Amino acid sequence: MIGGGASATAFLVALVKQISAESVVEAPDVVVFEPDGPCGPGFAYRDDTDSALLNRPVSAMSVDYGDRGHFRRWLGQHGPATARTDAGSALFAPRSSFGRYLADVFATACRDLGNLGGSVEVVREPVREVQPTAERCAVGPERSAPRWVDDVILCLGSLPARDVYRLSGAPGYLHQPYPVQQSAHAVPHGGEVLVLGSGLTAIDVALELGRRTDGVRVTLGSRSGALPDVRCDLGAGDCARELVEDVRRMLAQRETISLKDLAGLLDGELSRRGTTLREALRPFLARTGGDELLRTRLGEPGPAAAVQRCIVALTPWYSRLWRALDPASGKAFTRHYSRVFTCLRSPMPPVNARRLLALADSGRLSFRAGILDVRAEDRHFRALYRGGQERRYDVVVNATGRGIDVSAARPGTLVETLTRSGFARPHPLGGLDVDPDTNEVLDACGVPIPRLHIVGDLSSGVHFHTSSMEYAATQAGRVAERVASRLPTRAGVLL
Ligand SMILES: Cc1cc2nc3c(=O)[nH]c(=O)nc-3n(C[C@H](O)[C@H](O)[C@H](O)COP(=O)(O)OP(=O)(O)OC[C@H]3O[C@@H](n4cnc5c(N)ncnc54)[C@H](O)[C@@H]3O)c2cc1C
Repeated sequence: MIGGGASATAFLVALVKQISAESVVEAPDVVVFEPDGPCGPGFAYRDDTDSALLNRPVSAMSVDYGDRGHFRRWLGQHGPATARTDAGSALFAPRSSFGRYLADVFATACRDLGNLGGSVEVVREPVREVQPTAERCAVGPERSAPRWVDDVILCLGSLPARDVYRLSGAPGYLHQPYPVQQSAHAVPHGGEVLVLGSGLTAIDVALELGRRTDGVRVTLGSRSGALPDVRCDLGAGDCARELVEDVRRMLAQRETISLKDLAGLLDGELSRRGTTLREALRPFLARTGGDELLRTRLGEPGPAAAVQRCIVALTPWYSRLWRALDPASGKAFTRHYSRVFTCLRSPMPPVNARRLLALADSGRLSFRAGILDVRAEDRHFRALYRGGQERRYDVVVNATGRGIDVSAARPGTLVETLTRSGFARPHPLGGLDVDPDTNEVLDACGVPIPRLHIVGDLSSGVHFHTSSMEYAATQAGRVAERVASRLPTRAGVLL
């Protein structure tokens, strides 16, 4: 396993589950390469401030989506003091508590594998290259000797964010926003801060800075100005069954579909719920300002709840829908709607929306769309916005988020060496190309490499929305099943 974060943990758990149910299978020896911190939390759930919350309720977070309540039960035993209760029925825990859960689950899976006769070794080095041969794979860590293994699971997460305005090295520029607690410490008293981006990462930074009482003022500056939607309490209602049935039927009848077909089905479902697609998307398509969006969604959650319910219901279908879209629709979606979809698919907890609104109302937070450029000048930064407006800031925090643009991978890093050597090829929509059924990496000629798999964000080009625990865990389960099916078996075992 290359990478020891949430995807790797989900894979190990799924592998142990598979093996323990097969008395004839020989348990494998697993090597995990993870250079950064303990195994389990990875990048997404590392230790940080309690104000950085999970964006899904605790009952929707688990390493195993065959057991959705796993984290909730763990939290009940280990973390009630840190859990936060929202005004609604949903409970949003700090991300670091999910990280502690992952570390605990990882340690348990290691012990379980040991009890089954296998082992787990953790190597604290990044891997620079992987060379598959017909039978095995050579894994090249940064410092130690290469290792020969039977299967490689790439659990690398996404790629580091770009330095869009080339500000690295300028005093006061924070390229890496996490841990946000640390970034907040780097901001001087009363500082004027520009946070680049307006997604969940930018919100984490704004909320942490919003805890300060020394006059720090924050601007979320981005091109589109689109804030994530506010998560609605979806309650116990039905799960858009008719929509799911319509989608199932359409995919059974047709090989390709258009964006218009899909919009038609969504509109049908939304009209059954008393709204329309246009109405539900209005705050996003009309580019409503940040504070107005928050006020609208908190005040009148009806249309948001309807569309969020559809989006949740279609979760198991995204990969197939994405691959069935005709090329023109795929491009149009990427260009015009993927940002809106992300806002709706990964909404912020309502408790965060209320805090942001309070900060905006007190004048300590503002939202600015149309950013065009940011320049470092003597001891400060100057940002240029559409319409020729300029603003001065003391600190710039890059919260544009991690990405899957493979061309941005730094020379000598694993993704770059894999594509350069032809053992992988970039997917046109981001990440690396994989076989959609097995998640095996496709080489430069499009041929699957049977022992090289991806779990997580790097397969987003093929599967579309993989940046969530649910997707990572579902993929991990499928890949674990495949790997377990190839493990050697023991003779003479009573079945
Ligand atoms: C800040 C943030 C918050 C998120 N919040 C949520 C949420 O609330 N709910 C949700 O469902 N999803 C959330 N996500 C989506 C998240 O991507 C998935 O849930 C999942 O955690 C991804 O885990 P991962 O192991 O694939 O990636 P990561 O967590 O990024 O872990 C990848 C690991 O691989 C290691 N690595 C990378 N390259 C190498 C190499 N060459 N050699 C060895 N090791 C390497 C890294 O050190 C890292 O530890 C969030 C994502 C981010 C970035």
